[in-house]
This record gives sequence, C-alpha cells and structure tokens, in this order.
Amino acid sequence: MAEHDDDRTYCIACDKPLVAGDLYYSDLSGGFIHADCCGPERESYTGPDEEPLKPGEPIPEPNIWVEEPPRPAKATPGSLVGRTLEALLALAYAADVALDDGEELEDGSHKLDKDNSNKLCDAVEKLAALPDDRPGYTMGPAAKARWALRSLVGKGGAS
Ligand SMILES: [Zn+2]
Repeated sequence: MAEHDDDRTYCIACDKPLVAGDLYYSDLSGGFIHADCCGPERESYTGPDEEPLKPGEPIPEPNIWVEEPPRPAKATPGSLVGRTLEALLALAYAADVALDDGEELEDGSHKLDKDNSNKLCDAVEKLAALPDDRPGYTMGPAAKARWALRSLVGKGGAS
C-alpha cells in the first residue's frame, strides 16, 4: 500500500486521495469512496437510513468532496510556533516584572529599573530574531510574531 499523508482522506476502493470536487459516498465502515469507484449494482448502496435500497428507491446522489482546512501548526518545543510562543511569554513576564518594579514619576512617566529594562529589551530581541519571511513586508518584532503564528491567529492587520 502506498504511503498515506495524514492530512488526506483516501478512497477505500482505489486508495487514491479524495480531492476537492470529487463525487463520493460515505461507506458504512466509516471510510469514503469515490462515486466512480462504486459499481452500478444497487446492492452496493444504502438509503439515507443506512438500510439496503428498497425496490424502486433511487440510488442516492453522491456528495461533493470539499478540501479539508489545513490543520493549525502544532506548538511543539523548538518549532517556530513553539519558539514564538516562548518569546511572547517571556516578553509578557518581563513586561509584568518591569512595570511592577517600576516607578511612576510625578510627571506621569514611568521609570523602569535598568535591569528589568534590559530584560524587556532581550525579550523583544528574541521576537526580532524570528524569520522575516513574509513576501513584500519588512516586519518589526510583533509583526514577526504574528506572522509566525498566522496559522493560529490569522494574518491580522498592522502590528
Ligand atoms: Zn476511488
């Protein structure tokens, strides 16, 4: 048997993948079969109640296969999605600590502890080190993170 791609569904008769637009039937086994791979014999078909066709009952119309949506990227450690999430979490932590230890001055500005400010910069740099591979865009750290996570959050607007 040929090697199967986990992201595809294969016809139980011809073992070829179902592609968008193919006519197919669901098999009682839970598999799927091309309409062309079903013979003309009425005995091969069941009615909507999954019972054999009654005399005079027409063979049901096949369904049209629609492409399955791509699965979201998995957030495994070391993957781009995993690294991006790590960097965002590190940034959230650094921001929390920096603001918490910081001091609000009388003019309303906020003074950050030098050490905390450095950690915040390090966290932003981790995001800045992410790939800048969206064609036609020059991306800042947040845009790189959004691009890396696009399968989870969508492409989004300016950020
Ligand atoms: Zn088939």
